[in-house]
Amino acid sequence: MTLRVVDAPSPNSNERRHPVDMLVLHYTGMADGPSALARLRDPGSEVSAHYLVEEDGTVFALVPERKRAWHAGRSWWRGDDDLNSRSIGIEIVNGGHDYGLPPFPDVQIEAVTELAQGILSRWAIPQNRIVAHSDIAPDRKEDPGERFPWKRLADAGIGLWPESSGDDRVAPVGLRPGDRGEQVAALQRALANIGYRIEVTDRFDVATETVVRAFQRRWRPASVTGQGDLATVLLINAVAKLAAPPIR
Ligand SMILES: [Zn+2]
Repeated sequence: MTLRVVDAPSPNSNERRHPVDMLVLHYTGMADGPSALARLRDPGSEVSAHYLVEEDGTVFALVPERKRAWHAGRSWWRGDDDLNSRSIGIEIVNGGHDYGLPPFPDVQIEAVTELAQGILSRWAIPQNRIVAHSDIAPDRKEDPGERFPWKRLADAGIGLWPESSGDDRVAPVGLRPGDRGEQVAALQRALANIGYRIEVTDRFDVATETVVRAFQRRWRPASVTGQGDLATVLLINAVAKLAAPPIR
């Protein structure tokens, strides 16, 4: 398809402090596209993104890619913060959790895919630095949500997806909140190697549950529980292996 791009400059940007090496995907979580577009261009909101993708596939170009847009907020990935300085941000029009998790229309996903492929051709962004907002701020963000078709994007060369996706026939007898020990520590290390901010405490604490939930939202969307069932544990190990080498 040919991308339909409309210029819609936002004043909400400044200078980067780091070269671009990340791509962050969001949903807008608002009633509709026009309200999201207005908010992203409102100087009073102090938020923006480089692009907004409407449900019909129209792409609004808000902030030039070389500039720092304001979409990530307090966030962290693979040892880095100030992710606005190093990322391109795409906002995808979708009501999200507050509006019952509506599906993303095909034409919209096709536009996101083509837009992202263009971004990856212009900037050196490793696959393990293509993230959901919920990956980089798991304690406060859920977007773009478990309805977002990450697998389809991965099939188009955008983001990691493990070959073996765990085994859903395996009874969930893995790790649970409250568990302690070396297996929990191993799980925490695997999540850290994917890029999540998590402390290795040997305890399946609330922070671990939050990060497991973020992982599931991205790679096991059918089961966003925060539980370390065996299929989830297998999948975490599979993605950690793909995301190697471990963080610096
Ligand atoms: Zn977001």
